[in-house]
Amino acid sequence: MKQFPNVRFGNCLSIFLIGYTMKESTLCVHSGFDTDRNIGGDTGGLGIPVYQTSTYDQEDLSKNQKYDYSRSGNPTREALEQTIALLEGGKRGCAFGSGIAAIASTLGIFSTGDHLVAAEDIYGGSFRILNTFFKRWGLEVTFVDATDLQAVAGAIRPNTRGLFLETPSNPLLKITDLRGCCALAREAGIISIVDNTFMSPCLQKPLSLGADISLHSATKFLGGHSDAVLGLAVAAEEELGRRIYHVQNSFGAIAGPWDSWLVLRGIKTLKVRMDYECASAGRLALWLKDHPKVEAVYYPGLPDHPGHDLNARQAGGAGAVLSFKTRSREEALNFFAKTKLAASAVSLGSVETIASYPVRMSHASMPPAQREKLGVTDTLIRLSLGLEDPQDLIEDFDQALG
Ligand SMILES: *Cc1c(COP(=O)(O)O)cnc(C)c1O
Repeated sequence: MKQFPNVRFGNCLSIFLIGYTMKESTLCVHSGFDTDRNIGGDTGGLGIPVYQTSTYDQEDLSKNQKYDYSRSGNPTREALEQTIALLEGGKRGCAFGSGIAAIASTLGIFSTGDHLVAAEDIYGGSFRILNTFFKRWGLEVTFVDATDLQAVAGAIRPNTRGLFLETPSNPLLKITDLRGCCALAREAGIISIVDNTFMSPCLQKPLSLGADISLHSATKFLGGHSDAVLGLAVAAEEELGRRIYHVQNSFGAIAGPWDSWLVLRGIKTLKVRMDYECASAGRLALWLKDHPKVEAVYYPGLPDHPGHDLNARQAGGAGAVLSFKTRSREEALNFFAKTKLAASAVSLGSVETIASYPVRMSHASMPPAQREKLGVTDTLIRLSLGLEDPQDLIEDFDQALG
């Protein structure tokens, strides 16, 4: 088998080496870590070794060794970091102990007195750390409706240093114009950051749309099997990557080798999972739209979704997450009680279909007034489609809504 050499942070190396542009599903399997030889082994094993070690014997103390301590670097974690950098088209990836650790550590590149503009309907945990921890740290934040470019432009001040976006938004799947927002940020000389968790790099590549940093909760689609909690940050440029690495190494919220390995394995099937799950989401969205017990369906793949065209211009699909509203709170709770196939749980992006109840889960920490303003009502159910047969899901949801 052809070996792809392991060059540190060698972006798009394997694409270049075989002389033509590889498609997403090929990249997911051949990210440059095809055998253990790519990370220093010599067996040719197709399984990348888990370097479950905290420290390394240093052979010659007069020289710097590549690995000296696993907070600073670990070969398994680095294989994942280079894989995500390749998939996102960035220069450097950093892996963290959770999605929120990746977000908090990335925000750690900012300083007291800096001002950020953030989308008002970002992930609940991101909203919380910006409003609590980073408020104490001395960051000022203005939350805006990021689907309105003028609102974003109007919120930028002389001390604005960052723009924090997420699209599609959670849980109402609103679409933000990434090209437009990132261009505004570039003009103003501020760093644009996109939480790309809902799309994965198979569907959306924020860096290619002008963003400086792409973030992931790899707990979701990248890991894909509800068995690991991990986060990733990818910087478009080396210098920004070094700043994030500096926080990673000094703050220490790193991903462990075992979880890094689980996510590396998950990524191998990412494209086929995304394709199947997106197709299921599209089918379920159409079916729910016509269901008499359903008041509204939110899915960017539906032609009447306000962000449908924009999403099609910036992403390769509409994603595997949708939400819908029942006609009453009782009917929503009834759905959770009666569904047999969907797990009633927090999280998304897994092989299992997951139904979430935002008012009690992802948005429980958001003040009710803010929730109401965003349309997160007690009739709202969010679905993340898994790998079950969609017809089985339709039959199960029909009885659960009945
Ligand atoms: C889950 C999630 C996070 C947080 O990730 P954890 O791995 O749970 O820490 C951040 N952003 C989005 C969009 C998420 O869905």
